[in-house]
Amino acid sequence: MVYLPRLSTLLLILLLLNSCITEDADHSIMTVNGAIFSSEMGVTLTHEHVMVDWIGADSTGYHRWNREEVVERALPFFLEASGRGIDTIIEATPAYLGRDPFILAEISRRSGIQIITNTGFYGAVENRFIPHYVYEETAEEIATRWINEFENGIDGSEIRPGFIKMSVAEEQPLTGLHQKLIDAAAITHLQTGLTILSHTIGDVPAMEQLEWLKSAGVHPKAWVWTHAQSGSLEGNLQAAEMGAWIALDNVQFSPDQEPEEHGSIEWYAERVMNLKEAGYLEQLLLSHDAGWYDVGEENGGEFRGYSDLFDFLVPELADRGFTDDEMMQLLISNPQNAFGIRVRAQ
Ligand SMILES: [Zn+2]
Repeated sequence: MVYLPRLSTLLLILLLLNSCITEDADHSIMTVNGAIFSSEMGVTLTHEHVMVDWIGADSTGYHRWNREEVVERALPFFLEASGRGIDTIIEATPAYLGRDPFILAEISRRSGIQIITNTGFYGAVENRFIPHYVYEETAEEIATRWINEFENGIDGSEIRPGFIKMSVAEEQPLTGLHQKLIDAAAITHLQTGLTILSHTIGDVPAMEQLEWLKSAGVHPKAWVWTHAQSGSLEGNLQAAEMGAWIALDNVQFSPDQEPEEHGSIEWYAERVMNLKEAGYLEQLLLSHDAGWYDVGEENGGEFRGYSDLFDFLVPELADRGFTDDEMMQLLISNPQNAFGIRVRAQ
């Protein structure tokens, strides 16, 4: 005879299971080589670059670079990153600024690092990287393009984006065009569950975007303030309080920099400690915004690797009492939660 627990016990177990699933669900992550579970992401850098082409939307295109040359230039930095235990790199170069998913897929295959690419448009720098048709189209039409990339692949490939990358003008209220980009991002998020990573310089455009997204039905949890180091501590705290992700993403050691200077390793450590003490460790992301093969420069010009965070910031935080568990929270758990694909409606 089979033992059957009482109904109340069964209900309790089901309730507990359900709460586990909703709190710690293993979401899908879209890499350039297909979908994985967020639990497979491992140590993740959430904002880096392989290549950037600054020429502008009018002139850029796949004809501008030699793929094999770019792969050969970037690959050693990915192999170095792999050797240091980095498992996943989120590549934040948007379309019309040098996004080439074919290069990313090749580097991923050859380095073993999982790479995530994006859909979206980049409005900063006076719309230099915005193609003309965006001015004419509605937010719905723009979103249809982004959703199509997610559902069917980028530029005829089977490579799909794992997040939305966008940007708005720096240190100023949102323009109408950028409000349209945010609307398109909101529509895309609500249909696909892709996280919105927005290049945002300063508190003003950060707060405006959050309000705009909320009114479009998107919860701030779906939005990453990338370059949040450009904001004040108060601005970071306010965005975090609303639920947004705070990405401090230009970690870089420079021997010429004074410890008290904005952007120094000590400055990053201080900002991390401040956010931690305010209770927002679980909404914090770190990265280098490093790379990249610069199209038009001889052999891509200078290439900054993906290691300063580990060489300089990790020990600086350890000196301030930061634990290994807290570092794993920042480099493993938070990226999973930030980029796990699911709709976060307001
Ligand atoms: Zn960047």
